[in-house]
Order: sequence, then C-alpha cells, then structure tokens
Amino acid sequence: MSLSTTLKEELKKIFGDKVAFDIPLNQYTSVRVGGPADCLIWPENEEEVTQIVTWIKDKKLPHFVLGKGSNTLVKDNGFRGIVINLTKGFRNFKLEKENGHTVWVKAQGGVPTQQFVRWCADEGFTGTERLAGVPGTIGGNVYMNAGTHLGEIGELVEEAKICDSKGKIQTWNKQDLQFEYRSSNIPYTSVVLETLLKLQKGERQKIEETIKEVFEKRGLAQPVELPNLGSVFKNPPKKKAWELVEEAGCRGVRVGKARISEKHANFIINEGGAKAKDILILIGMVKDKVKEATGITLETEIKIIGE
Ligand SMILES: Cc1cc2nc3c(=O)[nH]c(=O)nc-3n(C[C@H](O)[C@H](O)[C@H](O)COP(=O)(O)OP(=O)(O)OC[C@H]3O[C@@H](n4cnc5c(N)ncnc54)[C@H](O)[C@@H]3O)c2cc1C
Repeated sequence: MSLSTTLKEELKKIFGDKVAFDIPLNQYTSVRVGGPADCLIWPENEEEVTQIVTWIKDKKLPHFVLGKGSNTLVKDNGFRGIVINLTKGFRNFKLEKENGHTVWVKAQGGVPTQQFVRWCADEGFTGTERLAGVPGTIGGNVYMNAGTHLGEIGELVEEAKICDSKGKIQTWNKQDLQFEYRSSNIPYTSVVLETLLKLQKGERQKIEETIKEVFEKRGLAQPVELPNLGSVFKNPPKKKAWELVEEAGCRGVRVGKARISEKHANFIINEGGAKAKDILILIGMVKDKVKEATGITLETEIKIIGE
C-alpha cells in the first residue's frame, strides 16, 4: 500500500523540499530500470538521518538506503516505503590526520567514489586506486565492500559511522566491522554516514599510472557504454562467474530488452526500455543453466529490491 496523504503531509512538513513522492527509481539506478518509490528523501545532516529513521520506525514502514544505484535492481512495481539517499548532503571528504607516511582520510556516505579517488590521487594518497572506475558512493562501497583485483575498500576502513534502524548513531571501529567478498556485517537497514580510511603517502605519478591502467582494463573488459548493473553474480570460490556463464552458453542471451553482455558475460545490459522482469528472468535462466552445466549455484552480487 502506498503512503497515505496524512503521512505524506507529515513528511512534507518535517523535510520540506528534501522529500519527494512516487518517484520512478529508474532515474536513480545505473541500469535505468525500476518502478516508483513511495517516498525518496535526501537528508542533509546526521540529525535529519536520525529524524527520518526514527519516524520510519515509529510508523513501522519499510526503508532502504540507495546510493548511486550501481548495484541495485529495483523491481518494476517499485518500492512501498521510504528510500533514503545521501547523495545531496553527505558529500564532504577531508584529510583527518597524518603521521609520517600514513594519512587518515574521512569521507561521507554520499561522496561519489570517483570524485574521491581523483582527490586522493591529486593529494598523492595511495590506496584508493583499487576503487578506480567503480561507480557508486563511498557509503555503498563500504556496505558492499567494493573492490577490484587491487584490493577491497574494507582493507582501508578504520572506522564507519553508522545510524542503526532505531536512529542511534555509533562509530564502528575495525574490530566491529567484518568485511567479506562483496559484503559487510553492516545491517541492511543501517545508514553508513561516514568512514575513516587509512591510506599512505605515495608517488603521484605511480598512482596516476595505476588508475590509468585500471580504467583502460575496465574499458576493454566491461560494456560501460550501455546502462548496466555491474557484476550480476559473485565469483564462486576459485572461479570466475563470467567464465561459468559463458561455459553454460549464456553469453549474448536476450530477454526483452535485457541482454547478457557479449563483452563481459557477468554483465546484463539494458538495450533500451528493459524491464526488471526481463533481467530477473535472465538471472534465473543463467543460474539454472550454470547449475546444469557446472553443478555450481551462482549467488547474485546485486541487491534486488521492491515488488
Ligand atoms: C559499470 C559498473 C562497474 C562496476 N564495477 C565494480 C567493481 O569493479 N567492483 C565492485 O566492487 N563493484 C562494482 N560495481 C558495483 C557497484 O558500483 C558497487 O557495488 C558500489 O559499491 C555500489 O555503490 P552504490 O552507491 O551505487 O550502491 P547502491 O547500488 O545504491 O546500493 C548497493 C547496496 O548498498 C547499500 N547502500 C548504499 N549506500 C549505503 C549507505 N550510505 N549506507 C548503507 N547502505 C548503503 C544499499 O542499500 C544496497 O544494499 C560496478 C557497477 C557498475 C554499474
């Protein structure tokens, strides 16, 4: 059921133009797919995050946090509840402290990853090259433990400031946080407000060269010119998901306007007007075929939300 007029009015009164209703989420996901969310809200400071999360809890409504939607598939009928997005506020980052060759850098949850990677390179801080070309936000990166062959963000995280589903803000340190391949122990309903990363001072030229190499590699390997979701499946232990998809004969397979990329078989591209339904059918089909051909059950990396 959608939000009642009374609840909408209440939210409007508290958050003014930081709240919008019945917003199609295809504008907010990299694959350009997804039905409307009842409500999208852009808090600009920690108090507002606490306020909205507490309000959501009081009203017993569902919610989730959307970053840049670069690993999220929203279903065609959208999401009944509140979507919290940090990309309008929460865009600051700064050098927090330094000691010899080590620097500690703070970045808020809504910071676009590539803006942050560029800043680190310009400052001569090494470590974030591992995120070169990874779309999304710092909050999304931490939640997902984003990374590349060079490493994962979790290896750099010293602290994360998190608002839990009761609206309580706490700083989790290294010991509290557990990162695994493309996942963390941060609960789904929590909001990553800020993180503290430990980096090193490095040689600018070397940092630039590494970033350039990563971008070149990605451009050659990934269908970045078309809307997509990034890697759809996690790599099973000691295997590459794209190789399994290929082995199962699924490269290039199409359902509606969604297609397994010819360039990278772990990517599903939107050829224009794809529906979430098409993508979900493709995912199911690939999983079945891979299981049949190799005996391996693929697990999705992408987050699927809505109805
Ligand atoms: C072309 C392309 C290439 C990609 N390459 C890579 C790659 O090399 N390596 C890699 O790891 N990933 C890659 N991805 C996937 C994606 O970029 C990462 O998973 C990224 O971390 C997602 O960030 P986001 O802000 O877009 O998150 P979203 O897609 O918006 O959300 C993903 C999940 O994170 C949660 N989340 C988002 N923000 C927050 C927050 N502030 N607090 C709490 N939870 C939050 C959401 O609830 C959701 O569960 C790629 C995607 C694309 C489209």
